[in-house]
Amino acid sequence: MSHEESELRIQIVRSARRTKSVSMQERDGGYVVRAPARMSDTELAPIIDDLRKRLERRRGKRSRTDTDLDARAKQLNRMFFGGALTWNSIKWVGNQNSRYGSCTPRTKSIRISDRLRTVPDFVVDYVVVHELAHLVEANHGPAFWALVNQFPKTERARGYLMAMSLEGTDDTSDCAQ
Ligand SMILES: [Zn+2]
Repeated sequence: MSHEESELRIQIVRSARRTKSVSMQERDGGYVVRAPARMSDTELAPIIDDLRKRLERRRGKRSRTDTDLDARAKQLNRMFFGGALTWNSIKWVGNQNSRYGSCTPRTKSIRISDRLRTVPDFVVDYVVVHELAHLVEANHGPAFWALVNQFPKTERARGYLMAMSLEGTDDTSDCAQ
């Protein structure tokens, strides 16, 4: 997703004063983990692993901005709609309830649930293509799916969303004009 997949810097500091807990601090763009001196590498490894995963998720989230979303939509517009579509806004929003995205063709505004900020690119791309297609077809008829299915990973992305329990939570109501 992000182009700078630079490794997260995590420095481990053993402290004799620490008896039980592991702590973490952000420093100089990296992280310092303090662990008890007598904790073995084997004990520490899964903790660091988990920490790394959480930090990477957090970082991924940060790097997906409204600007990224708009740039992505422009690219997908060129790839699948011949660059013919226009919209007024495409934004991450927090209040989508169970829906993953919505589109209001009348105002040409698209909203993407920020629950999707951390999913793989192809899933976000599918949702963006789905919402873009609503600028052309407000309903979920065959013409709509013919547009969406141009995106090659549609089935995989829908499967992913189902697994996230966003199954069947489409955006029909907002798409109706
Ligand atoms: Zn829809």
